[in-house]
Amino acid sequence: MTVAMRETRVFQVDPQHPDPAPIRYAATVLQAGGLVAFPTETVYGLGANALDARAVAGIFAAKERPFYDPLIVHLADVTGLAQVTQSLPPLALELAAHFWPGPLTLVLPKAPQVPTEVTAGSATVAVRVPAHPVALALIAAAQTPIAAPSANRFGRISPTHAQHVFTDLAGRIDVILDGGPTRVGVESTVLSLLTSPPTILRPGGISREALAQFLGVAPLLAASASVSTALPSPGTTLQHYAPRARVFLYCGPRPVMLAAMHAEAVRLTAPGVRVGLLTAIEDVPALADLSAVIQPVGSEDALDEVARHLFAGLHALDQAGVAVILARDFGTAGLGLAIRDRLTRAAAGRVIDLEMQKDPEE
Ligand code: AMP
Ligand code: MG
Repeated sequence: MTVAMRETRVFQVDPQHPDPAPIRYAATVLQAGGLVAFPTETVYGLGANALDARAVAGIFAAKERPFYDPLIVHLADVTGLAQVTQSLPPLALELAAHFWPGPLTLVLPKAPQVPTEVTAGSATVAVRVPAHPVALALIAAAQTPIAAPSANRFGRISPTHAQHVFTDLAGRIDVILDGGPTRVGVESTVLSLLTSPPTILRPGGISREALAQFLGVAPLLAASASVSTALPSPGTTLQHYAPRARVFLYCGPRPVMLAAMHAEAVRLTAPGVRVGLLTAIEDVPALADLSAVIQPVGSEDALDEVARHLFAGLHALDQAGVAVILARDFGTAGLGLAIRDRLTRAAAGRVIDLEMQKDPEE
């Protein structure tokens, strides 16, 4: 695929009170069919006018994203739903009132004017209202819904800093609004309202437990692409979020997991071969004797911190030039499910499951 070169302009914007001038400029770029990367609370998005099929095609070209992978449409507020959806189930408005602005994407029947490029030919459209002042100001100024996937080339790690976007997409997009690091760090939860109860197509920033509490019933969970050949949601391919290094994900009781990672790091370390470990902060003492690059991403008791630093941790290990990344799991409670999902994809299914092994300290 050949990609047209563009001059990429970067603007610093205050994440809480964005200066109107760069927002206005970025909005005119969107209205003219251009591409603007902007911060949301989850990760940076790469936006185009969702109602302009040519502009949307530009997103796929810049990202080298296959056309079968649909985009999420971002709205400034819930009233925007009328423009992109039809025959709304009452539950959609209840979920929107409770979770928006926020990292919950709803899959709903699409309105005819949404181009098929946005939805990959599907009769449904994925929509959300992001909880970020820069994103909301931009969508409002553009006066149109904004289709925006994560602002990275297809299959690579999602960007949580403007620098990640620049490294991956400079020369391919028109504007980057730099609003600093993103708060949530993993993408939105994608929830389909076409089933009853609704189905989580992709775990993300809103936990399964929070949805269950609101719905009064546990949402269904689409079989993870790691254990099924059928993709639950288009685009949830097994190899995704992939650093250059080969990633292996360790799951199991903490001491078993850490012992296995330690042994493997020792085995792999050789002259000229650097090993990276993606861990919790409290794991560092148990691994400190290794001559490996240790990248703690937060405490296992604060999964919001782990989610926030997860992609930056993978980026940092790539930057350090490690050949292999051994990553630990953080369970499936709360944000743990989304963290496991992203790490499983980064590992392209190379998961070492130690769940059945006994904890040596028990
Ligand atoms: P990204 O914004 O790059 O994280 O990708 C958006 C993801 O949202 C896609 O990869 C799909 O998994 C999901 N998605 C978007 N639109 C739909 C839809 N109409 N039906 C089901 N899933 C969707
Ligand atoms: Mg993505």
